[in-house]
Amino acid sequence: MQPALAAHPDSCGVVAEAFRADLAPVPGAVGKLKIPQFTRVDHPDGSATVTDDVGLRMEILPGVSTRAQNAATFYESVMPESMRKTLAAGNVPLYVANHISDVNPDLKGKALPVEDPRKTWDNVGGAYFDNKTWDMLGEKAMFVDPDHLDGMTHEGAHGLDDLLGRPSQTAEFRAMYDADLKHARDNDIGLNPYLTQPGERGVQETFAEVYDALAAKTLNPMQAQVLKMFPRIACYIRENFHI
Ligand SMILES: [Zn+2]
Repeated sequence: MQPALAAHPDSCGVVAEAFRADLAPVPGAVGKLKIPQFTRVDHPDGSATVTDDVGLRMEILPGVSTRAQNAATFYESVMPESMRKTLAAGNVPLYVANHISDVNPDLKGKALPVEDPRKTWDNVGGAYFDNKTWDMLGEKAMFVDPDHLDGMTHEGAHGLDDLLGRPSQTAEFRAMYDADLKHARDNDIGLNPYLTQPGERGVQETFAEVYDALAAKTLNPMQAQVLKMFPRIACYIRENFHI
């Protein structure tokens, strides 16, 4: 069930101005929260499988504290339902583990595939894997560690991007991204270098960060800055991804 991906750069330009004028409250962030029901199965090795009411599966690995397990279900609860449904339909499990190598031992000590200050997978607190990087398991998957549970929606947004045919890689998306960046540069709006990386990474991370900011129930200063940087992208994501 894919949303119709239609870019409306013109209407987004208009809405973008409104966004800029009044960043709070953020449209889309005020919807009624629908708390999911969770079903939990504990396994003999200390791991647990927690499935929500739309079928999104969270695999909690041994060693994750009870406190972190509770927090993980909270963070899943505040994901937009449309995101949970899309990830569930795409069969993308969410792994919560202290280290990524607890899930996929192949990644222990292994260098990251891209230039990144974290250098190896051991230092990564959250990730979305398409089949290519997760080849040992041969599946798509998401991962967060207990210190990065608030990155769950960000990683889920990478999942949406992948499952919905990479809207972040379209010419329309790139045009809106470039227009937003130009506006930010011309108006001295501070740029987050993570979001201006060259090639696929800048647009992919922008897709994930803007989605995350739109889905947030309360907006932190970094998320407010992201929306200020990318009003056209924010409008496009709101129009197309049901948040
Ligand atoms: Zn990311």
